[in-house]
Amino acid sequence: MSDQATGAQDGFAARYGRRPDGVWSAPGRVNLIGEHTDYNHGFVLPFAIDRRTVAAVGVRDDRVVRVRSTFTEEEVSLAIDDLSPTAMEGWSAYVLGVAWALGTQGHDLSQAPGLDLLIDSRVPVGAGLSSSAAIECAVAVALNDLWELNLSPLDLARIGRIAENRAVGAPTGLLDQAASMLGREDHGVFLDCDTEQAEAVALHLREEGLEILVMDSRVEHEHATGGYRDRRESCERGAAALAVATLRELSEDDLTRASAVLDDETYRRVRHIVTENARVLETVRTLGESGPRAIGDLLNASHASMRDDFEITVPEIDLACATAVEHGAIGARMTGGGFGGSAIALVPADARAEIEAAVTSALASAGMREPQLFTVTPSEGARRDA
Ligand code: ADP
Ligand code: MG
Repeated sequence: MSDQATGAQDGFAARYGRRPDGVWSAPGRVNLIGEHTDYNHGFVLPFAIDRRTVAAVGVRDDRVVRVRSTFTEEEVSLAIDDLSPTAMEGWSAYVLGVAWALGTQGHDLSQAPGLDLLIDSRVPVGAGLSSSAAIECAVAVALNDLWELNLSPLDLARIGRIAENRAVGAPTGLLDQAASMLGREDHGVFLDCDTEQAEAVALHLREEGLEILVMDSRVEHEHATGGYRDRRESCERGAAALAVATLRELSEDDLTRASAVLDDETYRRVRHIVTENARVLETVRTLGESGPRAIGDLLNASHASMRDDFEITVPEIDLACATAVEHGAIGARMTGGGFGGSAIALVPADARAEIEAAVTSALASAGMREPQLFTVTPSEGARRDA
């Protein structure tokens, strides 16, 4: 068992005065490629990372759910019968929202016992690594076992998404929860967000001597949520003007027509989604045929498209990516919703130290905040730990 799971058992005992009935965990994620394509019913290729959120959970003999987290002293409790998005506040919505979402999907919670939960997370918050999905998925697998729901990993990912969309109120797609639920060691999760079919894609990073370097800009723009919503609306406007249900239906051949019909800004938003979908498919094909050293241009093109067409990057992230590539990264791109957060660079292990030093010094010279640099390893998705 991981030291994090053991720590959560002890933390649970200290707070609730008894041992938990079990410990479950789920990872954060990095999106390798496919940004803002999920809610456009397109393609994404994220992977689960080796930083996890654990939920230690004990069954109660009443119908109350009590939630605590090692990141705050606050305790929140709510009766199962009172679960509703309006009754949940702040961080507890990521936990209680999952229980509520199960009820909305026709699962009978009338006999479900109350629970005590302790959340402990090692996924950095707000860095674009989806600490939110990690909580939702850790809780979802725990409730699935303790409430004997027999839901599939993909069903649980959908439950997590409902919590995020409707209890928390973030209008995100299925990407984060699918990666957290379905991740596998050294594999990406290739997800078709229209059919919701997922496939594990071998990344072969270790055998190729490659690493994924996360470059957290530590910039969090206050318009992150507003900007995300705004891009979503642009995509919907573009689809409506082009008379398609979703941008997924368009291919690069449709772009000439799109440019004639749409205003320049909407056109560029649409072009990002259409070309990004093509790049995800090309990345999956290239990984299979030629391996990870051949995907650098696709990562770089994805970044340029987010920077110039979708306009969701920040100068810190642009500079970090350009510097990493200049100093030997195979490719680099922003990852996550944008307006701050993190970028990733695909780097040869033996060049990592030099790339890190170059990125740190370039941002310092530009008078920018010092980034946080660390590697992540594609890892196993949500599971029971104890
Ligand atoms: P991201 O998912 O990119 O990390 P979000 O804004 O989607 O960023 O989710 C971050 C939020 O998740 C935090 O503001 C907090 O409410 C909640 N959260 C993250 N980690 C924890 C934790 N360990 N305990 C309680 N809440 C957490
Ligand atoms: Mg999130």
